[in-house]
Amino acid sequence: MIKIYYFSATGNSLYVAQYLQKNLAEVELLSIPRELRLKNFSVEADSVGFIFPLHYVGLPMLVEEFVRELQISANYIFADRQLAQIAADIAGSEPHKSCEILKDKCAQWHADWVSRRAELDEKFICDTSRCVKCGMCEKICPVKNISRPNGSPVWNHRCVECLGCLHVCPKKAIDIGEVTRGRKRYINWNVKPADLLNV
Ligand code: SF4
Ligand code: SF4
Repeated sequence: MIKIYYFSATGNSLYVAQYLQKNLAEVELLSIPRELRLKNFSVEADSVGFIFPLHYVGLPMLVEEFVRELQISANYIFADRQLAQIAADIAGSEPHKSCEILKDKCAQWHADWVSRRAELDEKFICDTSRCVKCGMCEKICPVKNISRPNGSPVWNHRCVECLGCLHVCPKKAIDIGEVTRGRKRYINWNVKPADLLNV
């Protein structure tokens, strides 16, 4: 039995996880936000894998929180950090010294981002003239950071900046200040949107 934990806001990591499930025998997929919520912190399997995007060149906050707690009993553990692999491939052609400098900078950048968690959603806004109050933004949020007292989203300062709410909104009603206004949204349509929701 192979157990694969995934964290996916726009569907790319879920797509990779589902691809592995289709092409390997006996694979169980487990959503990291769900397992965190249920406090399922122990796993026993032949192999255990983790699939997630990089956030600010490091682990997404929820992945880090989960992996710190998880007790693993397995013969083989693997991780697919898609962007990490690309970064490593690119870095492979660079002199080692500059990689080390970059590594320190990236670690600092990531730590700064984590330390600003309570402020990360301050610039999120909803254009209520576009919002149809469908609730998709609330349902996709992996940390229950969105409430909708009047039908449209309000952010409650526990954001982990996965950008799921921004991308899933069918009306493009959500923006991060002016930065995202008019820009394209992205969901990997190889996965079912319902599989991305954290309900
Ligand atoms: S997903 Fe968009 S349209 Fe739906 S409630 Fe949220 S902001 Fe409104
Ligand atoms: S508020 Fe939006 S960006 Fe923040 S964690 Fe929830 S879904 Fe992700």
